[in-house]
Amino acid sequence: MLDVLKFKSPKSAPSANQGKGHIEVSDVSITFGTGADAHQAVQTTSLTIEAGEFVCILGPSGCGKSTLMNAIAGYVMPTTGEVTVDDVRVEKPGPDRGMVFQQYSLLPWKTVHENVAFGPRMAGASLTEAGSVANTFLGLVGLRKFGNRYPMELSGGMQQRVGIARALANYPSVLLMDEPFGALDAQTRLMMQESLLDIWRKFGTTVVFVTHDVDEAVFLADRVLIMSAAPGRIIEDLHVDLPRPRSTDMATAPEYIQARQFCLDTIKSESRKAFAAQNQ
Ligand code: ADP
Ligand code: MG
Repeated sequence: MLDVLKFKSPKSAPSANQGKGHIEVSDVSITFGTGADAHQAVQTTSLTIEAGEFVCILGPSGCGKSTLMNAIAGYVMPTTGEVTVDDVRVEKPGPDRGMVFQQYSLLPWKTVHENVAFGPRMAGASLTEAGSVANTFLGLVGLRKFGNRYPMELSGGMQQRVGIARALANYPSVLLMDEPFGALDAQTRLMMQESLLDIWRKFGTTVVFVTHDVDEAVFLADRVLIMSAAPGRIIEDLHVDLPRPRSTDMATAPEYIQARQFCLDTIKSESRKAFAAQNQ
């Protein structure tokens, strides 16, 4: 039986599957196609993400960030190596791993409330149970009053909050976010970043967040994993020592400036190498 049917009462504040969400990526490489058409998207990569951590994966476009995320999500099987979540080998997508993409990917013909209730319903929850879960998570993302609206009637930022609520409604131990704020304007994006940290603090799940934006990575993460240019591998693992809760005022803190500069320098030197290799 799925966790969703056994979870804590929806009337109480949602809390994470405490201690769950430990990810191991062991010697994973991913190649698409075969023979002359073979294209390596991810070079042999190993990494450990602790339960409850907020990790950002930062790297240039096309370096394999989404491919690595898809391997954790179970949409792509590694060519070599394996991914485990809480010691279980990932072989397909599952409700323990919620996914939020840049495109809002809501069901346009369903209301906001129905969109969030959909996952629990599919997992076998009754209409009443699924409705309570939807209310709880819409409350968590600040959209309880918008349950009867259709996605098209909401702004991009609000739709993405529904997407987060929808992913959390399955009580995942891991939340995988692939450039989720990439389509939002700068102002909304900043608000969403603060809001996401607030949701994460309350829900406590492991978050893996892909971005190509250095400021976004440093602001959000406990750790920033920097990927090389294609084919991607992780070349730096930076711990961000900024205190929590964080606010956008921290952009002037010396630790922030230092971490940001380190990321920029790493990416710049990596781009130079890639450029030189292309011109050889
Ligand atoms: P990023 O998310 O960092 O921009 P991706 O992981 O989407 O990069 O892509 C990495 C590389 O793998 C790119 O060259 C892309 O064209 C290729 N790629 C991604 N998915 C597939 C696929 N399903 N089939 C073939 N090539 C793919
Ligand atoms: Mg991508």
